[in-house]
Amino acid sequence: MNTIRTYQVCNVFDSSQNNWVRTKYIRRRGAQRIHVQMKFSVRDCSSIPNVPGSCKETFNLYYYESDSDTATKSSPPWMENPWVKVDTIAADESFSQVDLGGRIMKINSEVRSFGPVSRNGFYLAFQDYGACMSLIAVRVYYRKCPRVIQNGAVFPETLSGAESTSLVAARGVCVPNGEEVDVPIKLYCNGDGEWMVPIGRCMCKAGYEALENGTVCRACVSGFFKAAQGDDKCLQCPINSRTTSEGATNCICRNGYYRTDSDPPKMPCTTVPSAPQNVISIVNETSLRLEWSTPQEGGGREDVVYNIICKSCGSGRGGCTRCGDNVQFVPRQLGLTDTRVHISDLLAHTQYTFEIQAVNGVSDQSPYSPHYTSVNITTNQAAPSAVSIIHQVSRTPNTITLSWSQPDQPNGVILDYELQYYEKNQAEWNSSLTRSQTNTAVIRGLKPGTIYVFQVRARTVAGFGRFSGKMYFQTMTEEEYNSSIQEKLPLIIGSAAAGVVFIIAITVFIIVCRRRSSDRPESEYTDKLQHYTSGHMSPGMKIYIDPFTYEDPNEAVREFAKEIDISGVKIEQVIGAGEFGEVCSGNLRQPGKREILVAIKTLKVGYTERQRRDFLGEASIMGQFDHPNIIHLEGVVTKSSPVMIITEFMENGSLDSFLRQNDGQFTVIQLVGMLRGIAAGMKYLCDMNYVHRDLAARNILVNSNLVCKVSDFGLSRFLEDDTSDPTYTSALGGKIPIRWTAPEAIQYRKFTSSSDCWSYGIVMWEVMSYGERPYWDMSNQDVINAIEQDYRLPPPMDCPSALHQLMLDCWQKDRNNRPKSSQIVSTLDKMIRNPNSLKAMTPLSSSVHLPLLDRSTPDFSSFSTVDEWLDAIKMGQYKENFANEGFTSFDVVSQMTMEDILRLGVTLAGHQKKILNSIQCMRAQMNQITSVEV
Ligand code: AMP
Repeated sequence: MNTIRTYQVCNVFDSSQNNWVRTKYIRRRGAQRIHVQMKFSVRDCSSIPNVPGSCKETFNLYYYESDSDTATKSSPPWMENPWVKVDTIAADESFSQVDLGGRIMKINSEVRSFGPVSRNGFYLAFQDYGACMSLIAVRVYYRKCPRVIQNGAVFPETLSGAESTSLVAARGVCVPNGEEVDVPIKLYCNGDGEWMVPIGRCMCKAGYEALENGTVCRACVSGFFKAAQGDDKCLQCPINSRTTSEGATNCICRNGYYRTDSDPPKMPCTTVPSAPQNVISIVNETSLRLEWSTPQEGGGREDVVYNIICKSCGSGRGGCTRCGDNVQFVPRQLGLTDTRVHISDLLAHTQYTFEIQAVNGVSDQSPYSPHYTSVNITTNQAAPSAVSIIHQVSRTPNTITLSWSQPDQPNGVILDYELQYYEKNQAEWNSSLTRSQTNTAVIRGLKPGTIYVFQVRARTVAGFGRFSGKMYFQTMTEEEYNSSIQEKLPLIIGSAAAGVVFIIAITVFIIVCRRRSSDRPESEYTDKLQHYTSGHMSPGMKIYIDPFTYEDPNEAVREFAKEIDISGVKIEQVIGAGEFGEVCSGNLRQPGKREILVAIKTLKVGYTERQRRDFLGEASIMGQFDHPNIIHLEGVVTKSSPVMIITEFMENGSLDSFLRQNDGQFTVIQLVGMLRGIAAGMKYLCDMNYVHRDLAARNILVNSNLVCKVSDFGLSRFLEDDTSDPTYTSALGGKIPIRWTAPEAIQYRKFTSSSDCWSYGIVMWEVMSYGERPYWDMSNQDVINAIEQDYRLPPPMDCPSALHQLMLDCWQKDRNNRPKSSQIVSTLDKMIRNPNSLKAMTPLSSSVHLPLLDRSTPDFSSFSTVDEWLDAIKMGQYKENFANEGFTSFDVVSQMTMEDILRLGVTLAGHQKKILNSIQCMRAQMNQITSVEV
């Protein structure tokens, strides 16, 4: 019963109706599509008695866009175009009757929409052209999708598009502490103002969990963590861990507890295991079995393994030292999963301490070394192991000369060897025995052309070891012998023609041999034989065997060098060029051993058989040595290509370049320490009866601890003329590094441990002068002449006189007067123990009474500029510094003080000294010149 206000018209009896009603100006407010809902009623024409045919039951809806409210009574004109027609609107239900009493009225509702609209606003108009109608209500609206949080992202309010089918894309932004998982993050707003087609999503980041239906990411509370982005909830910290703040992404371990990189964050923190328990040791001669039970406390982990640390405490003095590589552990030494190990190849009669460490995945993080249980044992006395191979060095019709390698397990000092032999076709009980104090023997009184069976065994205080396997060797027949002598005659005559000196040498040699043997001279190896059996060797002493005396050099390689499986070798990079191919660094992994850094010498492809033999010859030599100052051979690879020699890796490379790179950087004691190491290596070689022939700083390698090791046991460069290296100069019968070689070795190839001693003196000089070239730029012939006239190298700068004296001793003309390597070692040891002995320097003036070449103090009158002088003292890098500070003439330079030198920016102590010393000499020479002028 409410009053309804309407706009109405009912001029059905008048024709040509055109009645308009217009809304006020309606602002668009960003909408692109406008919806209009109209409520109206239209009277049924048929219900009006006598109505003319022009009566209508529809009306038209129009709109007109405008940027401002500018409409007037006459504008826009009342007609389609400018007005835009939206539609003709018809009533669903018209009312046929006016029930005036009951006021029955049916109201229609129709909705129409239009777009796109783009001006600031618009008007609507309704055109009646002859209907009886009333317009009751008009609602004008647009549609929009509301701000929403969906899939972890916030989408802003977005208006529907211009068409009813339009989809308007909206970009979502992750809620705070959410992170995009799939991008882009989008929703589409359709024409009905509904969101649809979600794309992408956000999730709460690590340390935050989703709450309130995924609309909020909240930080994990203290004591809880969430490790990764995702829908997961925060979890409580595992045992032995805690958080330090809210929003934790992981829980940190409490003190003394750890995690490995691979432990998941949900896993409790764990600790190191306690020590193994109940260790049982069972010693059997030089082997040992250890068993134990698991630690009481495993640390909360399942990955406990055991390491065995072996220390031998043999000497009693100086505590225990780590066992060498030769001790064998089965199944292995480190990472044992079972609680037992078998250890063999220990030394006889020696005290050992074994530490059984329990370690697990977190042991390396604990500042406390692994918990272990130690057990002390003493091995029993054991006889030496068997000699593995005997080989023939030479033979005649009546003699066979044999040598053999020392047993792998001497188990004590070898007192001597016993050799048993008998004719092959005789009974064994008929055999003869002979003793030898070295690992060679000459068996005399044999029958010509007869096969003999030989076996050898070593003896220590613990008794004899087992005999080696039987080896068969045959004496020469008389015919073979005679023809071998004939073959050699032309050779001897040919060589004799080459030089008188050589004839003298051979004569001396023959006399020596005659004196040693009442027999006829033996085979071509006789000189080697003399070499083996001469000298004062202690019983059982191991001596070097020249691999080139083997009839088959491959046999020497097999005997002295271990074959390494190529699968354990990993080449990393090329570090140098050797004589036969590249030298590389790499890693070597061998079963039961730790992976180690190694140097790998390769034999270049396309080698000749001779080159292969010479290349591997070095390994056969190196493999016989075992000393901390001799480069250690790991083994060879001969069964695959390329052929390789693998040695320990020496980080600092060769000594000469190492010193040059570190000019002036070491203390005298450090330098003497290096020299001591080289001398100890030389002494070892000398004891082994090995003559190196090429001792020089370039053939010494230096490791990261400054330990110097003698290397380069290749001989081929001496033998052939095909090397282009000028260091090795052709001399009678081969090539010789003149500057390093003793005069008797140059003149008549008398290479001995004493000639090595001469070379050692040169190495000392190279070391003390930080890699200066011996005899500077003098020619080889000048060097030979100067030495002949008793000139010797002067002390390098800052070289203690005691060291120069030792050099001069090494350069004694008579080789018998040169010190033995053992004396050199003890002299250097004394200097190290008493550093004061190294304080005294050779005064400059004292050099006049020594017949020395003194090139370390150059003649200043020969330089015309300061730059030339700096070049000559190898300080050319400071030329600019001198020039910049105005030190451009000798007058000013000779007045320089230490402060001046510092001011120039010379910071290295060695360089400061070098410059200052040279300036002092400059001053001295200037004074002399002045006095002469006066
Ligand atoms: P060589 O053929 O022995 O004279 O080796 C050539 C170069 O390779 C040497 O001058 C060193 O620079 C390098 N070299 C050889 N052996 C080793 C090693 N064991 N460790 C490091 N560098 C090495």
